[in-house]
Amino acid sequence: MPRKLAAGNWKMNGNTEALSMIDALNAAHEAAHVDILICPPAHLLAPARTHADAGPVTLGAQNCHSAAQGAHTGDISAVMLRDAGAKAVIVGHSERREAYSETDADVRAKAQATQAAGLKAIVCLGESLAQREAGDALPVIRSQLAGSVPPDSTAENLVVAYEPIWAIGTGKIPTMDQIAEVHACLRADLVKSLGPAGNDVPLLYGGSVKAANAADIFALPNVDGALVGGASLTAEDFSPIITALNQS
Ligand code: PEP
Repeated sequence: MPRKLAAGNWKMNGNTEALSMIDALNAAHEAAHVDILICPPAHLLAPARTHADAGPVTLGAQNCHSAAQGAHTGDISAVMLRDAGAKAVIVGHSERREAYSETDADVRAKAQATQAAGLKAIVCLGESLAQREAGDALPVIRSQLAGSVPPDSTAENLVVAYEPIWAIGTGKIPTMDQIAEVHACLRADLVKSLGPAGNDVPLLYGGSVKAANAADIFALPNVDGALVGGASLTAEDFSPIITALNQS
């Protein structure tokens, strides 16, 4: 069985004061049997460590370079993120694929660097609205999976997040049947490519997950948690999502 994971992506939001929400999550979910991950902007990782170390919340990053070190002004490597306290790195978020023209090969290289640093790679993929409406969602997602996931990934160092681009930050979500269809397809392809380990890779849904829709999403087969943007910024919004996952 895959481990369940509630992951929060703060994107370019938050400050040192906002880190107190980690204390609130630690207190509220001390006995949780699901993993809880907060991915703040990189400069907050080191200060967040004092908060995270006190409970079940772990820390992750939102991006990394594919090299371990070198002449890459302004970039940060997975090894450095580990040094700052990260246990996971989100790679291939659609905002980065779009704004920085990151290809599947780029995403795979970042995932490989993350895994080589001993961290979990959270590989994001998802279709655009035009691709969904053209009936191309599954082929697009399968091709992103094949191109972005390192072939020697394990259930311990890989998480896959299905995030339809049109659902991110919009308040719109796919139907439950659509989410279930994509997740079944991802599971089957992971088993084909990784063998039995593919059964244990956590599959997250992401895109406008809120307290109001979390329980329905987590009840779906092959949904092992969520990657949450806006609703991960405060304990008030994120905590009920963690509770719903814990009860699923
Ligand atoms: C995201 O950015 O990964 C995301 C899912 O955002 P939101 O939850 O705000 O839609």
